[in-house]
Amino acid sequence: MVGRLANKVALVTGAGSGIGLESSILFAQEGANVVLVDINLDAAEKTAKIIASKYPNVRTIATKADVGKEADVKAAVDKAVQEFGRLDVMFNNAGIMHPKDDDALTTEEHIWDLTMQINLKGVWWGCKYAILAMRNNPTDESKGLHTGGSIINTASFVAILGAATPQLAYTASKGGVLAMSRELAVVHAREGIRVNSLCPGPLKTPLLMDFLDTPEKKERRLVHVPMGRFGEAIEIAKAALFLASDDSSYVTGADFTVDGGITSAYVTPI
Ligand code: NAD
Repeated sequence: MVGRLANKVALVTGAGSGIGLESSILFAQEGANVVLVDINLDAAEKTAKIIASKYPNVRTIATKADVGKEADVKAAVDKAVQEFGRLDVMFNNAGIMHPKDDDALTTEEHIWDLTMQINLKGVWWGCKYAILAMRNNPTDESKGLHTGGSIINTASFVAILGAATPQLAYTASKGGVLAMSRELAVVHAREGIRVNSLCPGPLKTPLLMDFLDTPEKKERRLVHVPMGRFGEAIEIAKAALFLASDDSSYVTGADFTVDGGITSAYVTPI
């Protein structure tokens, strides 16, 4: 098997849709065996079928897990190690944006708690069990396999920018992902475990498009994006591939923005 992830094992959460779907396919194209994790098992199985039709030599496992439950995350990582003997790439990507998440005055506590449970605690658990697995990775120098690995945590551009269209819990959870990832990167750097955050800009995936359901809502955001369009999930998947592969071997603790320029903009072109 050739490719930028040849002989490696990757686990992707939220593998049934959007960024997770495109990244799983791309990781498979680059030679990784992929564990497809989603709370929606049907969606994860559909991703497995797409990969099987395109890359019959790649092995996948589709498994149901709620990343907001520690036991589920542990079981998914255990499955990767039992089936494939190692874990090289952990893409903690699953997340939610709750329609009732609003400003400080109106957001209900249970919406805050649910958002934190999935978007922040879920990433912590993903990191915890990935680190434990990556420490034990068998080495095979002839195949370029080492202990350690690459952890990628999906944050968001809203972790860096404030918005007058608030989703307070979501924003706070993603800020937590950035801070936590940086600290993990430093703590585990000498174990060969790299930890980076991916900060996508606004994308054309169900997560955002279900929410921006009128032209006015879309335009309210697009005016702030220098490129004047929403991003595609595949454009984030390509950045995830870079962080997953050895091409980024000296990159750790980064807040990697892939956002059409939104975090660099003051006044955008008309
Ligand atoms: P999506 O809604 O298209 O896909 C998310 C997937 O995660 C779905 O398949 C869903 O079933 C799964 N999922 C949801 N809750 C889960 C849970 N508790 N456990 C396991 N799986 C779960 O979303 P997307 O746009 O691909 O977003 C992926 C990540 O990117 C999220 O963390 C999101 O916050 C982040 N992000 C998205 C955008 C955007 O504009 N779409 C921008 C910045 C960051």
